[in-house]
Amino acid sequence: MNRNFFSRIVLIIAFTLTGIIPSVQQAKSAEDSNWWLTPHRLLQTNLREIDATMDIDKYVREVEEFGANIVLFNVGGIVANYPTELEYHWRNTFMKGDLVGETLKKLHKADIKMIGRFDFSKINEKYVANHPEWLYVSEKGEHVNYNGQVHTCVMGGYQQDYLLEILKEALTKYPLDGVFFNMIGFPQVDYSRNFHGICQCENCKESFKDFCGLDLPKHDGDTQALRKHQQWKSIQVDRQFGRVRDLIKSIRSDIVICTYTTEHIDLIRKESGAPLGRETWDDVERAQWTLLTTENKQLANTTVHFYQMIFRHSAAAPYLHSRRLWQQMVNGAWLDFYCIGPLQRLEDRAGIGPISNIYRFHAANEKWLLDTESAAEVGLVCRDGDDYWGWVQILSENHILFNLVSFEYSDLKRYRALIIPESGGVKAEDARALDAYVEGGGKLLLSGRIPNKLTCLGQPVLKKTWPLRHSMYVRIRPEDKAELDVDGLKDFDLVQLRGDFHQYEPASGTGRMLRLIHDVMYGPPEKCYYRSVSDIPALLLRKHGDGIAASFPFQIGAMYREWGNLGHPMLAVGTLDNLLQTGRRVKIESSPLLEATHRRDPKGRFEWIAFYNHSGRLENSFHPPIPIDNVRISLKTSRPIKQVTSLTNRTRLTPSDNSSDEMQISLPRLNVFEVILVEYGR
Ligand SMILES: [Zn+2]
Repeated sequence: MNRNFFSRIVLIIAFTLTGIIPSVQQAKSAEDSNWWLTPHRLLQTNLREIDATMDIDKYVREVEEFGANIVLFNVGGIVANYPTELEYHWRNTFMKGDLVGETLKKLHKADIKMIGRFDFSKINEKYVANHPEWLYVSEKGEHVNYNGQVHTCVMGGYQQDYLLEILKEALTKYPLDGVFFNMIGFPQVDYSRNFHGICQCENCKESFKDFCGLDLPKHDGDTQALRKHQQWKSIQVDRQFGRVRDLIKSIRSDIVICTYTTEHIDLIRKESGAPLGRETWDDVERAQWTLLTTENKQLANTTVHFYQMIFRHSAAAPYLHSRRLWQQMVNGAWLDFYCIGPLQRLEDRAGIGPISNIYRFHAANEKWLLDTESAAEVGLVCRDGDDYWGWVQILSENHILFNLVSFEYSDLKRYRALIIPESGGVKAEDARALDAYVEGGGKLLLSGRIPNKLTCLGQPVLKKTWPLRHSMYVRIRPEDKAELDVDGLKDFDLVQLRGDFHQYEPASGTGRMLRLIHDVMYGPPEKCYYRSVSDIPALLLRKHGDGIAASFPFQIGAMYREWGNLGHPMLAVGTLDNLLQTGRRVKIESSPLLEATHRRDPKGRFEWIAFYNHSGRLENSFHPPIPIDNVRISLKTSRPIKQVTSLTNRTRLTPSDNSSDEMQISLPRLNVFEVILVEYGR
């Protein structure tokens, strides 16, 4: 989605509704006030109180050299890093002058923005005697004092009112560009993960009683009260953020509000902090899904420098950070890196080089990276589970450029093909949308059970579901190989099948491919063979309207994820390419360890194909990737190409034949990452 475009549309609608026609200048300034919709490069140096003594000039220089254009900087809450005049705001005792004021002035001079970080979840123990009603009360009836910081409650006066005083002071004293809130809501644990339960303070008790007439429950209390408590909590957080937003925006409308929720804020914060990374494509999903499902907001998904809370000074592998940042960047989100203390005091600096390489690349190529939209032509419906992640891997490894899509938020018609993992769970209304999609010429591929209400496959009758633990195979017959037309299948006459297999009686006019082998003996090798191949198809195909639908009646993605057998992806790719004839605009010949992304300028002046090299990963380590040579790319285009450039080293690549409608180029070497830019003439 082109987010700037979206914001413009919203503005135009808003102005039209109010009967005001904006002048170009008005529209422009309103657009500038949503500056955060443009991807920025955020560096969070989460300052300890002792960092007030850091060298500020060096700090600013390091931020610049790192390639960031915005910092997330500790301003207030637990510790005030400026000379606050408020009685209950703890002034940093290590600070000599005005840390926020001096740093902000220097950052702004260097054209770097600052988002102020505030944490109101705790207050210094020196203040609590005067205001016990501000505090969180555990289920044991105790306050929680963690290293001299005492937990406060959302419903207490500190978070309800004093917070606004602190924000007002900071935001009127300093021209901060944004505000970030840490530790929002109703936490029930402390930093050591000790569980303290639902807050039992008088404010909570009273407000909850007013809300539903019930007594405030404990975490193991009555189910109905706990359900009500969930509702009540979200109403309270919503109300509090609404008030905070009103205050901030009344001071200056261009102050960005950022935190971990989605309501009343502008910039959504998330964290990739699992020490070994989670899924290889976790950050692709976070970026694509967040930007798809939250209108007119942006995402700052931070890659967390350290392993865990208890090892805040030791870092996760450099090329894990590199991968995460790359995946956020090429999917249109912010770059965001978070470490403890300023860079000048970092004691594990191994990642700084690879990380800032990506920041500097983004800085040098803003023209091509800031305002783009996905050009992928295959949609993968976003779900959870093994089948979904298996499909992500199949598509990525085979360089089938895809977008995560949702029935609710995506324009399905824009995709040449749609893939539905775990398709049995598709709702009736979504099945109708899929029928219309196929009717209009779409190519649909299902994995798993066929949805009951789906008609484009002729509503085949489910005869039996073969159970999970039955030893089975899928026979790939010579005629299947001929039609699937994938070279590698010459070495496969079968692939294993574990998991539910849905045996259908297909409707007339349905193509039946592949065959189920279920008559399998296993045990001692002498007795390991099958005696027959059934006539039950393992792939159904049917034309419907102008399109075509196909179904693997088992979760083929889950098979690949669980076993990594190379036959399953070949069946999937052959189906997409040669049975459904999806037609790829971009073809890439290279290692499966190369991840590709395709985006374009909304105005059509350029498009690019980005590559990331995953080859450095071995077990728990992420090493520098091994260079991949001679990456061949072909791109179908009907327009005259002005030039093709490799953006990492600014070299021109010469298409082998620029006269036909299929341009061929070769990238001599892919090191860690690359963007191949294709510019068009007028
Ligand atoms: Zn409370």
